[in-house]
Amino acid sequence: MRQVIVAGNWKMNASKETVNTLIMGILSGMADVDSNVIVCAPSPYMSQVEALITHSQLHLGAQDLNENASGAFTGEVSADMIKDFGAQYVIVGHSERRSLYGETDEIVASKVQVALDNGLTPLFCIGETLEQREAGSMEAVVSRQIQAVIDRVGIGAFKNIIIAYEPVWAIGTGVTASPQQAQDAHAFIRSMLTQNDASVAQTTPILYGGSMNPGNAAELIGCEDIDGGLIGGASLKAEDFLQICKAG
Ligand code: PEP
Repeated sequence: MRQVIVAGNWKMNASKETVNTLIMGILSGMADVDSNVIVCAPSPYMSQVEALITHSQLHLGAQDLNENASGAFTGEVSADMIKDFGAQYVIVGHSERRSLYGETDEIVASKVQVALDNGLTPLFCIGETLEQREAGSMEAVVSRQIQAVIDRVGIGAFKNIIIAYEPVWAIGTGVTASPQQAQDAHAFIRSMLTQNDASVAQTTPILYGGSMNPGNAAELIGCEDIDGGLIGGASLKAEDFLQICKAG
């Protein structure tokens, strides 16, 4: 039985005031949440979030990491820095990193490896663009993205990886994949893992991301191979985020 995981990706949206309000709001409703809940904060706010969530059920994640340990990489954040603020999770390979910052499958695989080597759990994002879906290549795209990581860290490492299937056409667009579209993609991803290692495939969480909201979360998370959600826009409102957390 896989536990439901709900992770909020705040992206580049925060201020000291909104972080305070958001975290206090989420904490006030956590008593009846059974899901594993993660908030992925922008780096400058990780210290603030760490302090606010001490002794709570909330977990902290970062939104990206650099594949190097330290050094002359202006603007970048290392695995050690992330851990220093009590984070246990890090988003890797988000489609915005792939499309806006040129992250290739190889770079993403290196980041997954560095996260794992440092005891961080990667929220490893994959997904096809609208053009790729319309060309019928969703399966080929997600296979390629997953294979790059299997080639780097081995299938056994997926015991410590959370996959987030995020069709790019659904991210931030208000267009959600239908439960059937999402379940089909998740079943395909799990079958690919099964071909490599059946027991790892049964335990690896596969989250759905792409305009998940309080209105569609229960149906999506209710699908057999959907183990929770990676939430962008709806993670910025405590009430909406909590409703999604409770849908699991
Ligand atoms: C995301 O960016 O990971 C995401 C799923 O965003 P949204 O929920 O806003 O579509």
